[in-house]
Amino acid sequence: MQHNDNRTVLWGFGLNDIDRKKIEAEAGDSYTLLNWPGTALPENGQVEREQPFLVWIDYGVWTTLDDDRKAAILDWETTQKVMVVGANADAPSPEVFLDHGFLSMVTSPLKAASIQDTLVKGIEVHNLYDDIMRMTREISLEREILSRKNSYLLFLNRIMTRAVESLNPATILAQARQDLNMLMPVQAAQCIFWTENGRENIEAELFLAFHEHNSVQEAWVELMLKTAAKLSGSHVDSYQLTFLMDAATTDEGEDLSPRPGQVVLLPLKAGGIDFGCLALLTKEPVRLGKEQRDVLHSAVNHLGLALKNALLYREVKIRADHDGLTRIYNRQYFDEHLVDELKRAQRYNQEISLLMLDLDHFKAINDTYGHQAGDLVLREVGALLQETLRSMDFPARYGGEEFAVILPHTSEDKAWNLAERLRHKIARMRFSHKGRDFTVTASIGVASLAPGGFRKNIDILRQADRALYLAKASGRNMVCTTRGCPKDDGQEQSETGY
Ligand code: GH3
Ligand code: MG
Ligand code: MG
Repeated sequence: MQHNDNRTVLWGFGLNDIDRKKIEAEAGDSYTLLNWPGTALPENGQVEREQPFLVWIDYGVWTTLDDDRKAAILDWETTQKVMVVGANADAPSPEVFLDHGFLSMVTSPLKAASIQDTLVKGIEVHNLYDDIMRMTREISLEREILSRKNSYLLFLNRIMTRAVESLNPATILAQARQDLNMLMPVQAAQCIFWTENGRENIEAELFLAFHEHNSVQEAWVELMLKTAAKLSGSHVDSYQLTFLMDAATTDEGEDLSPRPGQVVLLPLKAGGIDFGCLALLTKEPVRLGKEQRDVLHSAVNHLGLALKNALLYREVKIRADHDGLTRIYNRQYFDEHLVDELKRAQRYNQEISLLMLDLDHFKAINDTYGHQAGDLVLREVGALLQETLRSMDFPARYGGEEFAVILPHTSEDKAWNLAERLRHKIARMRFSHKGRDFTVTASIGVASLAPGGFRKNIDILRQADRALYLAKASGRNMVCTTRGCPKDDGQEQSETGY
């Protein structure tokens, strides 16, 4: 709109000399008027280059233009159009021109007042137009910012909602890896947690993406342990490793090694204390903007809480499932597990057996050697069960001095043999409390379900109980089924005589 010499450019299309001079006089030094002959009007490109502020168009010239040319002129966005009509011309009414987007219609010969009026109106419209353009730009910028904020909110909402849907750290990590992709290309989300073991050292638990190359795993273990030591300020005593079988991390041939610039380490906090660290491996080096970093930190804060919850839940669950004295499973968990095991045996036509083991004359041990001696026996018998049985067997403390064992895939014969072995081992145990030595014996009832058999948990438990009762009634330190108590030659007697 401004000329080289800083003057505002006005154009005229075929103005007569009198009008031209009048405009120049009224407009003053801050304007420059370029009057084009009606037969040689400028091309559109020139309008764009010079951006005239206003063009005075002689009506006679206007009538010589074809419709396309007229439409093109009316389309000039930032240039105001003023129609100059001769006093005697047979022109349409001013409303027609205003409707077409003209700023105004003035009568030739031009008067000072109408030129001033037109220029003032032009400036007003121009300023208005500038305001609208600025507002439009601001609105679209605002919209861009809002849509970004909206996608961050969606991301946060998603990651926060999904993180608390699971109480399994591996599941939470797998979902976080997927969700974090909304922010950056995450290839693997791995984790280390630690707990103090009271000796100024820490025990760590690692969740790492599975990888067939040992060297990759070793590199991660080293990096994670170093990070844990640094964040906790303690030495890592021991660690446990769990593999994450997350789809995107098991893609064939994907390089999951901790590459410089592609590992993002994010400490996990709960109650203001670091308890772990999330390690993200990105597909390429990423540089996050401040906004993205803030969003990532909010997400990780929340993830940290969800992971801490999951760890606490696991701890509480272990406590709730285990007996405090013997550290083996408790009755409640045993009952749940028995239902599952029976269902499984029936579904796959497998045999399954159950042992009920009760220590003999246990009351007398308490009475003779004290309650603490009784506790010691219970702990050691619990440990013996765990050591002696196969990993698929399931021992539990069923009540006071009563233990129960589920033996999947085990016939009655085999169960009886196993029970005999346990009975011998218990009888051979030597206990010592406050300088006094003693032994203990156990009676064991065996109940079994043959392949294809069907029995409810309550029935098989009742059968094992009846077998145990039979063992007690037949003299104790004995293994029985409900059908009787086969003799075992190597029967050993408790040395206390109980
Ligand atoms: P039986 O051979 O018929 O089984 O005789 P028993 O004495 O073993 O059986 P009884 O049921 O009369 O007594 C069980 C005893 O076990 C009584 C109880 O004080 C003791 N007991 C139960 N739970 C615990 C425990 O946690 N610690 C200790 N020390 N004793 C326990
Ligand atoms: Mg007993
Ligand atoms: Mg008992």
